[in-house]
Parts: sequence; structure tokens; C-alpha cells
Amino acid sequence: MKSRILVTGGAGFIGSHYVRTLLGPRGDPDVSVTVLDKLTYAGNPANLEPVRADPRFSFVHGDICDSRLAAELADRHDQIVHFAAESHVDRSIDGAAAFISTNVGGTQTLLDAALHARRPPVFVHVSTDEVYGSIDVGSWPETDPLSPNSPYSAAKAGSDLVALAYHRTHGLDVRVTRCSNNYGPYQFPEKVIPLFVTRLLDGGRVTLYGDGGNVRDWLHVDDHVQGIELVRTRGGAGEVYNIGGGTELTNKELTGLLLDACGADWSRVDLVEDRKGHDRRYSVDCGKIARNLGYRPRHEFGTGLAETVAWYRDHRAWWEPLLRRG
Ligand code: NAD
Repeated sequence: MKSRILVTGGAGFIGSHYVRTLLGPRGDPDVSVTVLDKLTYAGNPANLEPVRADPRFSFVHGDICDSRLAAELADRHDQIVHFAAESHVDRSIDGAAAFISTNVGGTQTLLDAALHARRPPVFVHVSTDEVYGSIDVGSWPETDPLSPNSPYSAAKAGSDLVALAYHRTHGLDVRVTRCSNNYGPYQFPEKVIPLFVTRLLDGGRVTLYGDGGNVRDWLHVDDHVQGIELVRTRGGAGEVYNIGGGTELTNKELTGLLLDACGADWSRVDLVEDRKGHDRRYSVDCGKIARNLGYRPRHEFGTGLAETVAWYRDHRAWWEPLLRRG
């Protein structure tokens, strides 16, 4: 029997990669996919163009905070993979309201819809490593307490905990993934890699926060999607799975690689005051998903980054209009 999957936020960076993968040649022939997306500045119908004509695909333009719509959709799907969120830390520092209403309120609305559906769907909640806070040495296992620092990560931590509460309190089959920083094609050019690449390709300048020593673990979006698929198809109810790439870089090291890839040098970099509340280092321990579900990242960072830069170089028609948005 076909699984009917509701993908929220499927017009964004990771959600659209998930949908293109599920409905693509490496995907699952036994699924149909409905995307529910509000099409905020970050949602882009062009990201779904490759699957638009697929009879297994449908699109609903709407808000996860709309309880009537959520109930109607939850009733006719077997699984929900929940990506929709306000996702940019800098925007959450400028104004947190949309982050609380979408990330916390919207997630709770969807969970309620799932709980009261005729046959409650499996609920895969896509969370982030940022919910753990910052760690100087070592890596977080899934059992570590959440200690978020930005309004973005606090709102994600709220939704993550509410999702787990719906499992513990009501027995809903909720599965949570906490992933590190993603990179790849179709990422909105406000996040560091596409922001730097598009500016450098345009001959512009880029800005590096603080001393550039903040460390992030980078994962190709395709590996994140692989992890989410393992959790959707084989994960356990009430379980949390970290997903990471094992490529830790300081922002300064990453900037050096991006300058090289774009044929630019350090004269194009401005050092600016550090971001408020800037987490120093993120590092997830991915042993559980590797042991229990056989997860292993496939994309080597150097190759993945070179392919990503080449994609932005070749797809100006995708990103140039986005620079005038939001
Ligand atoms: P994105 O900003 O590219 O996409 C978010 C999508 O959600 C957009 O299509 C937007 O239109 C949609 N959306 C926003 N508010 C909505 C609402 N109220 N109703 C319906 N749709 C709404 O984000 P992304 O980078 O693809 O991240 C997807 C998810 O993965 C998020 O939950 C994020 O927290 C999580 N995550 C991201 C990363 C990363 O590195 N980008 C890492 C770990 C986890």
C-alpha cells in the first residue's frame, strides 16, 4: 500500500530536497507526497519544479498554524515529515515573534491535528543540533539536556520538546531528528555558504563574525535527507536521532575554502562585531543513528562543497531574483 506523506515546508531548502529525492529515481515508488507550505520569503515554488508534473505530487499553499487545514490534511496522510519553520538565526535576533508562532505554535497545531486524526499519522519532527546550545569539547548524545541560546534555537527546542511530550503524554508516534548545519543546492542566499558564494561570484564583499573561530559541523543536504528517510521508515516511536557529517570547521576555515572556490582572496572579507549570543561550537554524536539505522554520510565535504559552488555558478537564474526578496 502506498504511504501518503505530508511534507510541511517542502518548498524550502531541505524540504524540497527531501521531496525531489522521494519522487526521484533514488526515491520510494510507493509514496505520494503532499507539500504544505506558506511560501514565506524562504519558500520557493521553483524548488519543486522538477516534481510538479509527477502524479504522486500535490501542493497546498497554507499555514501550519491553520488548525482546520492541519486537521483536514492529517486525516488523509499516513506520515507527516515536518520541516516548516522560520530558520534563520539572524532574523530571530531582529524579531522573534514569527519564530515562536510558527516553530512552537505551528508545530503544536500539527501535533494536535495528528493526534485527533482518524488514524494518527507517524510524525517525524525535523529539529536541529542548535537546541543543545554550545559545547567546547566532545559531542552531545541525544540524552543531553537542551540549552538553546538564540530565539531561533529556543523556538526549535520548544517545538522539539512539545513533539516528544505528545509521544509521552498521548502515545503519538513522534520521531525527532537533530541535525547539524546543511549545505547544498537550492539554499536561500541568506545562510553563510550561499550568501558568501553569491556575493563572491558577483564581485562583492563578505562579512565574518567576531574572530571567525566559531565551529560548525557541515553535512550535505542529501545526507540529512538520507537520515530523515531512515528515521521515517525504520525509526522508533519517541526516539531522538542526531544526524551529522563529521566535518567540523571554524567559520574562518570555511571562508578560506569559499574564497578559494570562487577565485577570491582575503581582501574581500570584512571582520564585523560578533553575532549576539553566538554559539561557539556545535557537535553531535551520531553513534545512535549509525548503530541502530545504519546511517553513514556519503558526501565527502571537499567534493560536496565544490559541486555546491558550481551549482550556484550555473544557476544564477535561481538565486538572482531571491536577492531582491525578503
Ligand atoms: P528554509 O527556511 O529553507 O525553509 C522553510 C520552509 O518552511 C519554507 O518553504 C517556508 O515557506 C516554510 N514555512 C515557514 N513558515 C511556515 C508556516 N507557518 N506554514 C507553512 N510553511 C511555512 O529552512 P531549511 O533550511 O530548509 O530548514 C528546514 C527545517 O530543518 C527547519 O525546521 C530547520 O529548523 C531544520 N534544520 C535546518 C538546518 C540547516 O542547516 N538549514 C539544520 C538542521 C535542522
